[in-house]
Amino acid sequence: MSRIAYVAGRYVPHLQAAVHIEDRGYQFSDGVYEVVAVKGGHLVDEEPHLARLARSLGELRITPPMGEAALKIVMRETIRRNGVDNGIVYLQITRGAAPRDHGFPKAAKPVLVVTARRTRPPNPSLARDGISVITIPDIRWQRCDIKAVGLLPNVLGKQRAREAGAYEAWQVDREGRVTEGTSTNAWIVTAAGEVVTRAADHAILNGITRCAVLAIIRSEGYEFVERAFTVAEARSAREAFLTSTTSNLLPVVRIDGEPVADGKPGPLSGKLLAAYLTHASAA
Ligand code: PMP
Repeated sequence: MSRIAYVAGRYVPHLQAAVHIEDRGYQFSDGVYEVVAVKGGHLVDEEPHLARLARSLGELRITPPMGEAALKIVMRETIRRNGVDNGIVYLQITRGAAPRDHGFPKAAKPVLVVTARRTRPPNPSLARDGISVITIPDIRWQRCDIKAVGLLPNVLGKQRAREAGAYEAWQVDREGRVTEGTSTNAWIVTAAGEVVTRAADHAILNGITRCAVLAIIRSEGYEFVERAFTVAEARSAREAFLTSTTSNLLPVVRIDGEPVADGKPGPLSGKLLAAYLTHASAA
């Protein structure tokens, strides 16, 4: 099946899908995006993803190119045309194309692009054996709560992780506290058994998976607190893990080459992953 993309009102063959060279997303990273998982043909946590998209647009004062009901139809049609049962839908909205000038253009029309593709679930060995992370300074801007397309620090960080043989890079603020991964949220379980993840302030993206896992933690009655933790704390934690739409929940067993606890995935990570997968597969 050949791939089809939705670009500013039309479904076009993927190879011919294009936006204008003066699109502000291309020139200024002036746009936002979402990635929604498709599992067994249904969209996982569609509502919170669309709510976050609306929030990101609002923070950047970009007018939504269409209403939510229409957007849902476009997402489903893109999924259908690409035959995606398990995979991801990518949505991007930029402020539109206009002669290059930093201030908002008066007349630009926001440009919506939607793509969908099949993906494999994370390799089961990652959840079984755990993954490693490195730590890097967080060099991003001060509005990481907005899911903006400007991802250069994240790109450089992920590449550093890959070159170090790690799965992810945890970014660390000036006070030595972990903010989040380059495309994932960061968690630990303390020696006292308390689950810790940074509060959703402006320093992190409030992950939809993060919210789903927090809801599970609350309903199961586990001890938890939303606060920042240091790299040293993470190294001496009982467990560590990360979450995201595409990674689900993966145990972190090494930080900068040092083992977390006994270097094996912990029991709570396993339980939370199982509960999250149940949540994600519910229609
Ligand atoms: N933080 C960052 C910087 C991300 O890019 C992502 C992935 N979108 C996440 C966290 C995880 O968010 P979600 O659970 O919504 O995929």
